[in-house]
Amino acid sequence: MTDAHARPLKLFNSLTRSLETFEPVHPGEARVYSCGPTVYNYPHIGNMRAYVFADTLGRTLSYKGYRLTHVINITDVGHLTDDADAGEDKLEKAAAEKAQSIWDIAKHYTEAYWADIKALNIRQPAHWSIATDYVPQMIEFAEAIACKHCYELESGLYFDTTSVADYGRLARHGTDEGESRIDPVDGKRHPADFAIWRKTPAGETRQMEWDSPWGRGAPGWHLECSVMSEALLGFPFDIHTGGIDHREIHHPNEIAQNQAHSCSDASGARFWMHNNFLVDRSGKMSKSSGEFLRVQLLIDKGYHPLAYRLMCLQAHYRSELEFSWEGLGAALTRLKRMYKAVEVQMWKEFQQAGLPVDSPSRFEPIPREKWNETEVLGYLQDFDEAISDDLNTPKALLVIEAVLGDPTISNQLRWHLIATLDQVLGLDLLLNKRADLRVRPKAATVDEQAISELLEARQLAREQKNFAQADEARNTLLSNGVEVMDGDPLGWDWRLETN
Ligand code: AMP
Ligand code: ZN
Repeated sequence: MTDAHARPLKLFNSLTRSLETFEPVHPGEARVYSCGPTVYNYPHIGNMRAYVFADTLGRTLSYKGYRLTHVINITDVGHLTDDADAGEDKLEKAAAEKAQSIWDIAKHYTEAYWADIKALNIRQPAHWSIATDYVPQMIEFAEAIACKHCYELESGLYFDTTSVADYGRLARHGTDEGESRIDPVDGKRHPADFAIWRKTPAGETRQMEWDSPWGRGAPGWHLECSVMSEALLGFPFDIHTGGIDHREIHHPNEIAQNQAHSCSDASGARFWMHNNFLVDRSGKMSKSSGEFLRVQLLIDKGYHPLAYRLMCLQAHYRSELEFSWEGLGAALTRLKRMYKAVEVQMWKEFQQAGLPVDSPSRFEPIPREKWNETEVLGYLQDFDEAISDDLNTPKALLVIEAVLGDPTISNQLRWHLIATLDQVLGLDLLLNKRADLRVRPKAATVDEQAISELLEARQLAREQKNFAQADEARNTLLSNGVEVMDGDPLGWDWRLETN
């Protein structure tokens, strides 16, 4: 295999509802735009599934040898509490409720989102584009399409969805797969028409408003993604991502704007890709309910965030994934097993070679042009086949585990191989240790020092056959939420109860 892109990458394109071979617009490059969060509250773990997916896509494109430019936007204006142009701006509402400036709200929740991005080992995109930085360009874009594609009402400028060919083809409106929509704005010509510019009602002021040819106000939500994707990635670019909900309204509206602006039928991106939802039957994921499932909550309960990343990778991105604490616990155990395999085997090999265990824990990935020369070509091909099949991460994980469990792979080559595969999965298999997975639950009352003293006392008592004293030490640990793990297959001495 000498060509860097020898195995075709097949991706599911929501536009055609079929698997298609990825062919970049610009040879050797991949340009990806992902709809980012609306920063009026903390992201829940479902939102973060969308970015684990976008990250896996980006990592796959890099691993395939494409020069990746990834953009994720930050929506700090324009997203209403109701997708059908009714309700308030989510950020205006949050700012009023918390009696804070919108800018402070946006800054706080953007930083919280970035902390989650880091915790989940999601790579930084080339650009974080902030919607409010692009308002002049949004006004220019709107001016260019206003005359042929928009009409003005008391409340703002609206896009006439009948002015472009085949509106809603992405959502399959008009078929059983499409969504029927309501029409809460007075004067709209068609239910699906949407706001390009929302005028500030007479007598009111908003914290965020700008002058425009249609009066003072704020841009409609869909405008930002058309404008920023073109500004940063050109037109057309390669892949546009988002959660499956965006397939119904937000992305069809972006496409309609793009068609109008380009005076063509071009949707703007060659591929439109959508991750399915993480569902939680307890209802704790809704941002509007008080405590909700966010990455920090998992950490507070003692789960390492990469266990959640693994939980996402265990499902195909187009399948619904049901969240449960048991499921998360199982993912954590699986991750521990992988870390243990790396640790134990590396330790052995390094000891044999007379090297300190944690010296060169960074191994270079095997370059594609060298694959043929290695004795692990079969594994490289199996992994490549899985990931090239619309990012089949559940299968790719099985290949990693087979590699970790194969005693015939020669020293060091295994680690170069794992480094190659982990580029795509981002589980930091060679960087982290098992001990790094031990996260202290927020509610824990004991510290490691006290735990190891009690464990030592127990061990000593057992050696002296003083079983009553050994049991007492064990019970003291138990009453502090520490379970002693005799004979644990993963080699843990103890664990803190996680929830
Ligand atoms: P928002 O901040 O609401 O604009 O959402 C950010 C991203 O998360 C979008 O791509 C949504 O489609 C996606 N999303 C929202 N809820 C979920 C969920 N439960 N599971 C997966 N993705 C979601
Ligand atoms: Zn968007």
